[in-house]
Amino acid sequence: MMDKKVLVAGSGPTGLAMAAGLEKHGVPFRIIDKAPAPGGESRAMIVHARTLEMYDQFGLAEEMINRGIILNNVSFFNEGKRRARFNLEDIGEGLSSFPFVLSLPQDEHERIITDYLKRRNIEIEWETELIDLEETEGTVKATIEKQGSRTIDEYEYVAGCDGVGSTVRKSLDFDFPGGTYEEMFFVTDLVSKYDIDGVQVHLFEAGFALLLPVRTTGSVRVIGLVPENIVRQAEDIGFEDIEAYLKGNIGITASKVNWFSTYNVHHRVSENFRRSNVFILGDAGHVHSPAGGQGMNTGIGDAMNLSWKLAEVIDGKLDREALATYEPERIAFARLLVNTTDEVFKAMVGSGSVFASLRGFILPNVIPGLLNYKRWKKMMFRLVSQIHIDYNQSDLSKGRAGRLRGGDRLPWVPYYDGDNHDALKSFEWQYHLYGQTSVEMRKHIKKSGIELHEFNWTAEVRSAGIKKNTVMLVRPDGYIAVIDNENNVERFFEYVQTYLKGF
Ligand SMILES: Cc1cc2nc3c(=O)[nH]c(=O)nc-3n(C[C@H](O)[C@H](O)[C@H](O)COP(=O)(O)OP(=O)(O)OC[C@H]3O[C@@H](n4cnc5c(N)ncnc54)[C@H](O)[C@@H]3O)c2cc1C
Repeated sequence: MMDKKVLVAGSGPTGLAMAAGLEKHGVPFRIIDKAPAPGGESRAMIVHARTLEMYDQFGLAEEMINRGIILNNVSFFNEGKRRARFNLEDIGEGLSSFPFVLSLPQDEHERIITDYLKRRNIEIEWETELIDLEETEGTVKATIEKQGSRTIDEYEYVAGCDGVGSTVRKSLDFDFPGGTYEEMFFVTDLVSKYDIDGVQVHLFEAGFALLLPVRTTGSVRVIGLVPENIVRQAEDIGFEDIEAYLKGNIGITASKVNWFSTYNVHHRVSENFRRSNVFILGDAGHVHSPAGGQGMNTGIGDAMNLSWKLAEVIDGKLDREALATYEPERIAFARLLVNTTDEVFKAMVGSGSVFASLRGFILPNVIPGLLNYKRWKKMMFRLVSQIHIDYNQSDLSKGRAGRLRGGDRLPWVPYYDGDNHDALKSFEWQYHLYGQTSVEMRKHIKKSGIELHEFNWTAEVRSAGIKKNTVMLVRPDGYIAVIDNENNVERFFEYVQTYLKGF
């Protein structure tokens, strides 16, 4: 008898989010990592609104915000001169309870989740490596190496959150098409007198760099491309190799270097994200350039999509077919992301007059100008914050009411005493009613045993795109499963009968 139903391989941000999701649903699982200890590198810094909305379901968003910095402005520099400064403060106003972009180093981010898990008696097993997987009927045999000895353990499910070199992906023999950019990135945290109070985008003849303030260390995070001549000259590149380049092009110097690293960026998406009872998530399934700070957030989104499905299928509450929706729901966005970040990357590093004018004129002048318009701001926020991700094409998504469709994220609506996302903290399926509905619908909802949250139909509800008298069945991860505003009871009844076994 297996006492741990799920093996989570890898404890980066994706594995940690997966563990938090499984724990919330009370599923016994094991989380392992081949590293000797938690990573101490700041790596991904940007935490987007959709990720904070999901963390809020665990009561973790506030701590993240307190430990990070809300980026309230972005400045564009050309050849060291500030050309535009754009206010980010109200960028997502009315769209999310987290209408901003948060900067928080990845190691601190991971520590918050690890501590959350510790408080629930979940310990990560360090220096414990997944070596191989073998699927047999209904179970997965995992060869695991711990302190020099190997064991073969059985699990019902395996969640491969083991990063870009994923053993899980390789054991499934999934192709990982795409490529690796020739250009080499550097990333560094500098203690510096350099004056910075927001994001800085620096564009110059020789390249570009992005600067961010880091709250806890008071340092400046710089990310950019290692100039070609240095890549050619130096074998093992250190901060001293790019010191003059940074001083000359940005004017930044350092009294101390907290961290310096170089890395090559891949742009790849695995051909599949699932085979039978084995899944891959995060960097194991998709990697791309850090443009837009999307990578880590997307991995966390994968974990939030899969953890409740897996937990409810194990509990017998959800039809097993729902597991088949993980791949189509998440792979479509991963592919889009890899393509778009690829275009942005080419625009930033490309040579020739078109790219030169893009970097020299369009980026520092036209883009900030557009961002002064409220509509553009909102559009940018929707795009970057990941609140626009939808599962409209999924088998788990049904119905339409006005511009909202099954598969859309539950639009955020503020009320005087909270908001409609507060209800999501239960992590349960739930009905939402905005206005009134028929006696039949109420009877169906009551019979289903699923909790009903009733909301007044206000101006804020209307501007969130919700039509009067809309009924929604909402998934535990905050996406609309079924939506209707014409008392179509049958549609809800069928859905509950088909997928929700426990009700
Ligand atoms: C230097 C650097 C800078 C970066 N900067 C940015 C940035 O600015 N913005 C951004 O969005 N992204 C950035 N990234 C990418 C970002 O860090 C990743 O997208 C993110 O960490 C992915 O999370 P993950 O949990 O999917 O994978 P990972 O963080 O890679 O975690 C995978 C974990 O699995 C473990 N593991 C691997 N194999 C096994 C095995 N066989 N058995 C057990 N455990 C295993 C590893 O030890 C690791 O802890 C950067 C990455 C690097 C390397």
